[in-house]
Amino acid sequence: MPVLAGAVAPRGASHHLVVVGGSYAGLQAVASARESGFGGRVTLITAEDHPPYQRPPLSKAYLLGKVAEDALPLRAESFYRDAAIDLVTGCRVSHLDPVRRTITCGQDRPMPFDALVIACGARARRLAVPGAELDGVVVLRDLADARALRERLTAATSVLIVGGGYIGLEVAASAASLGKPVVVLEAGPRLLARAVPPQISDHLVRLHRRRGVTIRLGTGLDRLDGEGGRVVRAMGSDGARYPCDLVVVGVGAVPNVDFAQACGLATPAGIAIDAFCRTGMEGVYAAGDCTVQPNAFADSPLRLECVQNAMDQGRSAGAAVAGRPEPCPGIPRFWSDQFDAKLQSVGLSAGSDLSVSRGSSEEGRFSLFHFRQGHLRAVDSVNRPGDQIIGRRFLAAGLSPTPDQARDPAFDLRTLLPVS
Ligand SMILES: Cc1cc2nc3c(=O)[nH]c(=O)nc-3n(C[C@H](O)[C@H](O)[C@H](O)COP(=O)(O)OP(=O)(O)OC[C@H]3O[C@@H](n4cnc5c(N)ncnc54)[C@H](O)[C@@H]3O)c2cc1C
Repeated sequence: MPVLAGAVAPRGASHHLVVVGGSYAGLQAVASARESGFGGRVTLITAEDHPPYQRPPLSKAYLLGKVAEDALPLRAESFYRDAAIDLVTGCRVSHLDPVRRTITCGQDRPMPFDALVIACGARARRLAVPGAELDGVVVLRDLADARALRERLTAATSVLIVGGGYIGLEVAASAASLGKPVVVLEAGPRLLARAVPPQISDHLVRLHRRRGVTIRLGTGLDRLDGEGGRVVRAMGSDGARYPCDLVVVGVGAVPNVDFAQACGLATPAGIAIDAFCRTGMEGVYAAGDCTVQPNAFADSPLRLECVQNAMDQGRSAGAAVAGRPEPCPGIPRFWSDQFDAKLQSVGLSAGSDLSVSRGSSEEGRFSLFHFRQGHLRAVDSVNRPGDQIIGRRFLAAGLSPTPDQARDPAFDLRTLLPVS
């Protein structure tokens, strides 16, 4: 899709910025537009009934009852008032008219915009196996899902998780910490295969098994059986029967691109944007989990699913709307908490040709530094947040330690960085 270069950004007081999607990317876009001096009208529209809130705790502290709902909002109500942002909740945009430059929510009157940011995120992918519609089979993407899951988890006697990705493993850790018997079925040969290298996958298998979680690798789900409409057992592709009264499906997310696709702005893979978050339509930007963007860490444009990327892109889109375009930094960053392990990644390890470790996997504190042709590409860590900060600084500065320096725990990597 062609991406417009140098489109003139509307920023005058009479201009109307509409942002669709009230989460990390959308909220950051409106905040950054204001911070960058956008003086026009701003409307933030979200399909959910709540103002933007934090999603990561939904599979971790919130499920464990350690974080209450009133701690989840990303901004206080006063933020919207003070920044003169019209927040519209419970409104799902169904149509974008690129000629009249309007968006429409269901039966509402079309709303005109001068600048538009599409930040619709992603939804949980559903299972396509017999029994997937039974009561007790759930996904986790938003607060409504999390409320339902928390309630069901309290009553559950055996939990089956389908998918050994971030969501599946975080829910597995939370459920096991609540004393529930948990089985994880992962169709691939290792956990988190798309996101982390084998050494981290292996560490996670050991961690979960030590905490009583049953992990079945190379095992898909053939069917779910129910009684009286409720799920009671799963049939694995290994031929085994797994009794369960709660099934959590964590098999990835699908970008929300319906109305963008209908007007030719997106493919099912996402909304293509350039480094400034511009789409192929003048004055229309996109940010967050629904986008596909070129990235220096990958050979082809990427759709990243993480808070950092959503915020970086939201910031870039908001600044561009205000006429102060700034390219997205594009350094991927992920984190996950499972039991007492904090897993963090910066950069992308895929495509590296050498990995060296620092710290000790046995002690549960180690990092992997990944190199391509001798240059640092990514750092994956378990419980070594300091290495993440250093890795981020190397990648941001385009610098690299040598592999020998990275693997030597006595070598202070900070000495290679410019004084900050
Ligand atoms: C349970 C859970 C745990 C996570 N943990 C982590 C973590 O530890 N670390 C990390 O980096 N990332 C984590 N993530 C991923 C992270 O939350 C996402 O990458 C991030 O929320 C993406 O933000 P976003 O603004 O692009 O989209 P989303 O957060 O998906 O929000 C999109 C919003 O747009 C709304 N919307 C969609 N379509 C429309 C429409 N047509 N009209 C109006 N509104 C619409 C949606 O209802 C939603 O409110 C987690 C995600 C989940 C679900």
